[in-house]
Amino acid sequence: MSGNKKLSVIANEPINDSKLDNATKIILGLQQELTKYIADGHGPFLAAVYDQNGNLIAKTANSVIAESCSNNHAEMNAIKLAEKKLGTYDLSPYNLSLYITSEPCMMCLGAIMWSGIKAIYYGVPSERVTKITGFDEGFKPNWMDEFKKRGITVYGHIATDAGEKVLQDYVKHGHTVYNPKR
Ligand SMILES: [Zn+2]
Repeated sequence: MSGNKKLSVIANEPINDSKLDNATKIILGLQQELTKYIADGHGPFLAAVYDQNGNLIAKTANSVIAESCSNNHAEMNAIKLAEKKLGTYDLSPYNLSLYITSEPCMMCLGAIMWSGIKAIYYGVPSERVTKITGFDEGFKPNWMDEFKKRGITVYGHIATDAGEKVLQDYVKHGHTVYNPKR
C-alpha cells in the first residue's frame, strides 16, 4: 500500500495497512459489481455488511426506482437484510462492518446509528457524489465525530477514482437522478 493512498483516507480512528488493503479490495470489488446492478436498473450505490471474520452477511444495491421507495438506499437495504438474516434489530453484538461505494447520506447515517453497525468504510465522498451526479446527500455536520462518540469507526475516501468513474458513467448513460422536485 503506498503512503499516498493512506494519506487520502479520512478516518475518525487510526487505520493500519492490512485493514486499509482489505477495505480497498472490498470496495473496488463493489464498484466493479455496481456497474452490473446499474445495468439491471438499480441506483448507482452498493453496500455490503461483513462480520469480523470476513464473512459476507448482506449485500444490496440502491433500489429506489426499482421498488418505488425513496428509503431504499443501498445502506438501508443492507442493514434491513442483515437484521432480517440475523433475526435482530440490534447488530452490535455481531461486530459488523458496512462497506459502501459512496459516503452515506443523512438518512443512512441515522440508520447506521440505530443499527448497531460498528464500523463503516466508504468510497466516494458526498461532495463528489453531489458534484458528479446531482443527488442531494443532505447536511451532515460533524458526523464523523458524532459517530466516534457512539463507538462507530469511520474510514472514508477509499479507492475514490474507481467510484467516481462509475458515477460519471451513470450520468453519461442518462440514468435517473431522482431528487424530489423543489
Ligand atoms: Zn442514503
